[in-house]
Parts: sequence; C-alpha cells; structure tokens
Amino acid sequence: MQLSSLSFWWLLLLLSVDYIYGGADYYSILGVSQSASSREIKKKYKLLSKKYHPDKNPGDKDAEQKFVQLAEAYEVLSDDKKRQIYDKYGEEGLKQQSQGGFHNPFDIFASFFGGTHFGHQSQSERQGPSTVIELEVELKELYLGTQVEVDVSKQVICGNCRGTGAKRAEDVITCNACGGRGVKVVKQQLGPGIFQQFHSTCDSCGGKGKIIKSKCPVCNGKKVLRGNEQLTIIVEKGQVDDGTIVFEKEGDESPEIIPGDIIFKVVTIPHSVFERKGNNLYAEQTISLIDALTGFEKNITHLDGRNVLLKRDEVTQPGFVQTIKNEGMPYFRSTTNGDLYIQYTVVFPSIIDDSTKQGLKDLFKHTATSTTSSTTSSTHVKEDL
Ligand SMILES: [Zn+2]
Ligand SMILES: [Zn+2]
Repeated sequence: MQLSSLSFWWLLLLLSVDYIYGGADYYSILGVSQSASSREIKKKYKLLSKKYHPDKNPGDKDAEQKFVQLAEAYEVLSDDKKRQIYDKYGEEGLKQQSQGGFHNPFDIFASFFGGTHFGHQSQSERQGPSTVIELEVELKELYLGTQVEVDVSKQVICGNCRGTGAKRAEDVITCNACGGRGVKVVKQQLGPGIFQQFHSTCDSCGGKGKIIKSKCPVCNGKKVLRGNEQLTIIVEKGQVDDGTIVFEKEGDESPEIIPGDIIFKVVTIPHSVFERKGNNLYAEQTISLIDALTGFEKNITHLDGRNVLLKRDEVTQPGFVQTIKNEGMPYFRSTTNGDLYIQYTVVFPSIIDDSTKQGLKDLFKHTATSTTSSTTSSTHVKEDL
C-alpha cells in the first residue's frame, strides 16, 4: 500500500461520492445475495478490494471507482444496523440516517490487511480475547517489504443459521417456563409460615429466555464451527523487530461478542551476514594483511542482491569499523535509510619463513628510508618503526 498516494485518492473519492449515491446496489457490487452472511460479505470484500486496489491498477478509472464502491458496500453491509436500514429503506434511508458519510476506502482496506483502525465499537460491547501469533520474517523481507499469506484456524459463526443455532428463524421460541426472562422466582419455606423468595436461573432454557425447537443441522445447535481465515499480511519495509501487525476483529467468532484481534508479532530470522540494530546494519569483513596495509576494493552483497563497494586506501587496523552511509535498513514508512557498519578482521599469516622475514625487514627499512628521506632524517624514522 502506498501511503503517499493516499491523499490523492481520497480527493478523487470526494469527487465521486455524489455519483455513487445515485443508485448502487450494494449486494450486486459485492456479488452476494441478500441473505449473505457477514462472513460471506467479508470474504467477498477482501477478494475484490485486493483485485481492484488502485496500486494494482494504476491509472484505471473504472477499477478505482469499483474500489471505492466496494468499500462503501462493505461498510454498509458489514454493519447490522446500516444493513437493516438499507434493506428496508434503501440508500435514501441510509443517507438520512448517516452522519458524516463514508470512511476512507483505504482505511477499510487497510483494516483487512493489517493496519489502521476502522469501525465504531461502543464501550458496552464485549470483545473476545486477542490472539498473538509470532511471524518469522527474513531480514531481507524486512529490508524490501513483503506479503505473507497465512491460513489461520479459528472458530467461526455458523453461516447456515447465522449464529442462532436454529434450523430456521421460527425455530427460536420464547421459553414458556420463564416467559423469556431467563430467571424463575422460587419460593422456599424456611420455617412455619416463613417463606423466602429468590431468583434462580431458568433450567429449561439455561437462562437464555429462548428455546430452540429444532437445531441447525450444520452446527448441531452450537452456533459456531471450526473454520479458517485466509489473511494477507503486508510486512512493510523497515518494519521493526517485535513490531505488530494487527487484524482487528479477526479472532475467534462467537455470537453476541465482538471477535478479538489477531496480532502478528514480527520475529526476525537471524541473517548470516548482516545484523540489525535499530535501523543500522552491521557486518564483519575479513581482509588479508596485504589488503590491510595497502588498501583494497571489495564487494559485499547487500540484502537486495546489490553489490556495495568497500574501498580503503589507507592502512586498515584490525577491528577498524568503516561507516557506509545510507546502506542500513530503511526507516519504517520513510524514504531514508540507516547506515551500514563494516568491522574488519585482519588475517595474519600463521607462519613466516626466514627468507620472507628478512625480505620484509629489508623492504620496510628501505621503504621507510626512501619515503621519508626527503623530509626527515633516517635515524628518526627507524626509531618510529
Ligand atoms: Zn448453525
Ligand atoms: Zn426459560
């Protein structure tokens, strides 16, 4: 997702809202029937919004309009209240009821692919627990950004009965024993002429006030099933280790409560060459004694496969750290990069024969004398060596 282009698309959206109000059939936009479950609606939206996303269809006005329409259709049909109004009174009804129009379609899209918050959850609604899943990511993927498809196993509302547990809607009837209150008044005699009245949970309906005459054959009256969810996780470049990517309300579904979130926690798989600390990268490079003394040019292969030149003209001391600007990790949602630090290890020969030893001594004596003879006396230089 290109965040930089967001405001541009938002502008286009504002220009096209009036047109869409003209006459849209939200069910046909999403390609679902009027009786579609919220799960079906969600699935269809996810599928189509990915297909028509402006980033995937640059410059295609039809796709762009479709993307906006999809977000609107989803926003209405995924909200039980809005859907009821739309079913009864159509768009005009919605228009009269709605305050402030629609959400930014990119926010709705992002809420499906890990990211920004969307929706309106009142304080009184209960939300289930969140699920935290570790997501192992290669350093290279954090450098470049990636998409990961995951299949999460979870509890889902039965699509057949839409979470009622009954075969048909009319199979849910009010409990006769408690009159639908879920509690019964029990009178207990404590002594002669002394009665205590207390409330007890209705055992006929288990306190629910309703009885299911005939169970849903798909979930066997349990209202929920074991299901799965395909999630596309967008790991943006520069995402930090331990960073989280949140899919709101994608956790276990249960009737009458809002699903918890699924939270992916980024865990970096250690790399064989580069180590990441914040936005900087660290690597070690081994050089020969000759390279250390005379300078060198070497290539190191970066995370994206590019060759980065390591060049030294001066003497390189063992343990010397060279800074290469802007070759570190990209900053999250920014165009700048950290730095790359290369630490040098100098490999000394393990044995040296007598003639080489003598040769080196002569050479150094000679070099020292010849390079410095013009500026300083030879005796002084020998002391320095
Ligand atoms: Zn069912
Ligand atoms: Zn009852």
